[in-house]
Amino acid sequence: MSDRRVVILLGPPGAGKGTQAVRLSDGLGLPHVSTGDLFRENLSNDTELGRRAKGFMESGQLVPDELVLEMLFDRVSKPDCAEGYLLDGFPRTIPQAESLAERLGAETPRALLLEVDDALIVGRAAGRLICKGCGNIQHLEFSPPAKAGVCDACGGELQRRKDDEPDVVRERLAVYHEQTAPLVGFYENKGQLKRVNGDQKPDAVYADLVRCLEEAA
Ligand code: AMP
Repeated sequence: MSDRRVVILLGPPGAGKGTQAVRLSDGLGLPHVSTGDLFRENLSNDTELGRRAKGFMESGQLVPDELVLEMLFDRVSKPDCAEGYLLDGFPRTIPQAESLAERLGAETPRALLLEVDDALIVGRAAGRLICKGCGNIQHLEFSPPAKAGVCDACGGELQRRKDDEPDVVRERLAVYHEQTAPLVGFYENKGQLKRVNGDQKPDAVYADLVRCLEEAA
């Protein structure tokens, strides 16, 4: 078995996976691989993949597995992923998790579940802002920009994601419960999952995630 580390961040949309993934990626020295970010990159570069994914993304649906898998496996084949990687937003369906397990072979991924109640999610998503320039995530309540509409990290323009509109968030939550939540059992049955309370200050969530990974090591 190799000593590569593959860490999976699981949780409903708006649970704070993106924010925590950036910190964890830094802390663990592993590249942050977000399938949502990869799709958004394809959308803004107007690639064929971006055009195929657009309708699904904007309505809160999942992009079909075959498109996701090809894009993801291509990304994790890059040299920077040789020592491991941190997955954010993948897997999202049982077939995706099975394909990942097949690819990893004897390697054991570590799944961390950020638990947050649905009621909190819709409100959180409504305040979320993402930088058009660098992808930095801020929040009107939890990490308000020093200057309204301007990214603290790069000075770029902050905007709300189309799929953070309340109706789309509710749809994404429904999709999460139906298609992604079964992954909790999938990883729990293999003894590969730890749960973290996502309804805490970001620093406390981060500390819990790090503790879980240390226990799992
Ligand atoms: P995220 O930024 O992770 O919330 O992803 C934004 C959107 O991209 C999702 O609502 C899906 O439409 C699509 N997407 C991202 N990752 C996946 C995935 N693993 N499987 C299917 N669709 C995905």
